[in-house]
Amino acid sequence: MIHFTTAIYFIAVLMFIFGIKMMSSPRTARNGNLLAGLGMLLAILITFVYIYFFHSSEPNFYMKLGIMILMIVIGSVIGWISARKVPLTDMPQMVALFNGMGGGAAGVIGYLDLLHSHGNVALKILAALAVIIGSVSFSGSIGAFLKLQRWINDRPITFPGQQIINFLLLLGSLIFAYLSLTQPMYANILVLLPLLLGILMTLPIGGADMPVVISLFNAMTGLAVAFDGFAIQNYTLIVSGTIVGASGTLLTFLMAKAMNRSLTNILFGAVGKIVGGEETQKVMKEMSIEDAAATLAYADKVIIVPGFGLAAAQAQHKVKELMDELESRGVEVKFAIHPVAGRMPGHMNVLLAEADIPYDRLYDLEEINEEFSTADVALVVGANDVVNPAAERDSNSPIYGMPILKAYNAKNVFVIKRGRGRGFAGIDNELFYMDHTFMLFGDAKDVIGKLVQAIKKL
Ligand code: NDP
Repeated sequence: MIHFTTAIYFIAVLMFIFGIKMMSSPRTARNGNLLAGLGMLLAILITFVYIYFFHSSEPNFYMKLGIMILMIVIGSVIGWISARKVPLTDMPQMVALFNGMGGGAAGVIGYLDLLHSHGNVALKILAALAVIIGSVSFSGSIGAFLKLQRWINDRPITFPGQQIINFLLLLGSLIFAYLSLTQPMYANILVLLPLLLGILMTLPIGGADMPVVISLFNAMTGLAVAFDGFAIQNYTLIVSGTIVGASGTLLTFLMAKAMNRSLTNILFGAVGKIVGGEETQKVMKEMSIEDAAATLAYADKVIIVPGFGLAAAQAQHKVKELMDELESRGVEVKFAIHPVAGRMPGHMNVLLAEADIPYDRLYDLEEINEEFSTADVALVVGANDVVNPAAERDSNSPIYGMPILKAYNAKNVFVIKRGRGRGFAGIDNELFYMDHTFMLFGDAKDVIGKLVQAIKKL
């Protein structure tokens, strides 16, 4: 039976690995997600089979089994409903919350292992590390969720001696981890310290840095799960935890790089504390759909800059129509993709691929930035922070230093947005007031639909 379960776990692990591999291309990402999900289902099912075979003679077995199934049903229903209902705008906090649950679960496994196992010390050390890392990830992710949901102040919160307290909490965690190896009762204190540490680690982080931190907690959850896997000798946990830990770490560094910031600066810099939050009285110039359509139709080159608003409006199919219409008139159309545009890594690529916009029309920031000066129009669709020149010019800005798409270098900049709403970082954008910038106010899908109609009439 053990060999059979191990073989099934191995198949589940292969499904995770191939699922992740398929996620690296927008074309196969959906199926990759499905495959990895099925792998998880298989791992859960075989765990139940295993439990049935080896533990059914234990006291209260059926009651425990019933509680487990009930918990799975409750969790699945909550997960299913929230995944379907959550608005796109709340995606980062949902990821934070779900990740926190994973970290918490990993911490609990380590904690129970410390309390009950009499295994060798090396494995107990791993269980203790899983408690520390999983607990930090749990409370830190919950803190991030509360900030992103704006249930607590979403700006960096600092106080004197913060780093010292964090250091002492970490030190205390390690000491109690050591003590709990021989005296399991210390595990009760061990869980508390990293829980506090996670919250304190999240407090000084704010604004556009939150995604990087969520990605870091995600990596930590993976690591904690992998340690649990070693501690309780479960290969599926080892492999899946390692995959999450490694991909989360890579993503964290990629996103930090995209913001042009070091991870230490993000974690300890309290960047974003001073926010240029005052309302400006400057005027945005509006343009009519007809005028914008004519300029676009007779342009040689148009660079479209998609942002979060395009995703919120689900305007990807309309953008494809616009691209087709312009290309049929001989206009060269390119898309400029910023690595943190939208609310998820790779958000824009996935969205545009969904509308069958060919991959070779999408250009990374480094590839396209030089080209803006040769474009007749930079058409900014629901993007804001990723084209904000403050990142280059205002050292007090919370996004200072983040590389941006230099849309301002185009001959004309057309911006589609609904009004004066700010971006994720909550700051004003000088681009919208520049002489060569013209606003097309409205929902992105609506405005682009009208543009396409107007171009067809020309
Ligand atoms: P922003 O969030 O900076 O700006 C989006 C703009 O879209 C808003 O100014 C809003 O203005 C407009 N908008 C909203 N809804 C619509 C709509 N229906 N139609 C038209 N416009 C709309 O987006 P960017 O993509 O430029 O930047 C992403 C930001 O999110 C960055 O700060 C990044 O750090 C952060 N982030 C990124 C994550 C990632 O992994 N990619 C994760 C979490 C955060 P108005 O209200 O006036 O319409």
